[in-house]
Amino acid sequence: MTSYDLIIVGGGPAGLTASIYASRAGLKVLVAENTLYGGQMRLTETVQNYPGFPEVTGAELSEALHRQAGRQGAQFISATVKLVSPSEGGFTVETSEAAYRAGTVAAASGTFHKNLACRGADEFIGRGVSFCALCDGGFVRDEVVAAVGGGNSALEEADYLTRYATKVYVVHRRDEFRADKALQDRARANPKIEFLLSSEIEAIEGGDIVERILVKDKKTGQVEPYSVGGVFMFVGNSPNAEYLPPGVETAEGGWIKTDARLMTSVPGLFAAGDVRDTDLRQIVTAAADGARVGVNAAKFLEEEGR
Ligand SMILES: Cc1cc2nc3c(=O)[nH]c(=O)nc-3n(C[C@H](O)[C@H](O)[C@H](O)COP(=O)(O)OP(=O)(O)OC[C@H]3O[C@@H](n4cnc5c(N)ncnc54)[C@H](O)[C@@H]3O)c2cc1C
Repeated sequence: MTSYDLIIVGGGPAGLTASIYASRAGLKVLVAENTLYGGQMRLTETVQNYPGFPEVTGAELSEALHRQAGRQGAQFISATVKLVSPSEGGFTVETSEAAYRAGTVAAASGTFHKNLACRGADEFIGRGVSFCALCDGGFVRDEVVAAVGGGNSALEEADYLTRYATKVYVVHRRDEFRADKALQDRARANPKIEFLLSSEIEAIEGGDIVERILVKDKKTGQVEPYSVGGVFMFVGNSPNAEYLPPGVETAEGGWIKTDARLMTSVPGLFAAGDVRDTDLRQIVTAAADGARVGVNAAKFLEEEGR
């Protein structure tokens, strides 16, 4: 079984940055990625809030970061990590391709955004279907958009979207919101927000980008088209953490808890980026987490003599 000092699960901004810092600290590093390097960053048409790059495509940033990680000496494998188990002096990491030994492991596997199951929802991701108002709000300036969901993030983000959009339809399948009352009051007081309650989106349609949604009133059964330039999904997201061993402490929702070094409750197992219990999930924070994990994994190995 090949051994590494650090095996990183996920090749998004957190994982790739961790690999750069760990490689530069002299560690033998393997990054396992099961889709495309860059992670969710790659899904972003244009990134406008990464420091130093007023406007860059997610694909460009992803490729540059992947190249940089390779140049620093990281090794890569296209595989899904299935199981991480603590074993004598480190971990066994089982992937869809092979099993490895690792002195330390970093969970940098991000999240999955739940999407609607309706027609067009997957097809238009990155072309009008978004999961992040902070990231993509600037692209719907002077447009009418829909925000889907009934929790805090749906109402908070709908409110945020009114900075750009001329109107935001909040589409929610129930009569009542799960969101905090203060957020509900703020949304109700916002003249740019219109509620479509007891309603669900049956289809998202358009050409190159989203042009309309078909909304079904669940009480009457009637389906109406609404012209929109974007659909923002806030129907929940979850951490990709199913490969982790039992005993990793998590917060509500399964988010991985870490200490000041970004180490989990299992010694030698670190977490970085969106998968972590954190208050901001962005490229810059994922990269910053990755840097700390790369450095702290090296310190941990030295301290433990692994
Ligand atoms: C549409 C969209 C637009 C966005 N726009 C912006 C923006 O403009 N600015 C900004 O700062 N942020 C933006 N974000 C958020 C940003 O992309 C994320 O915060 C960031 O990518 C998180 O990085 P990460 O490395 O933690 O996770 P991810 O980028 O999610 O990377 C994790 C990687 O791990 C892989 N993986 C998961 N499980 C396994 C496994 N078991 N084995 C192997 N690999 C695995 C995944 O396939 C993925 O590639 C946007 C997000 C979305 C969805």
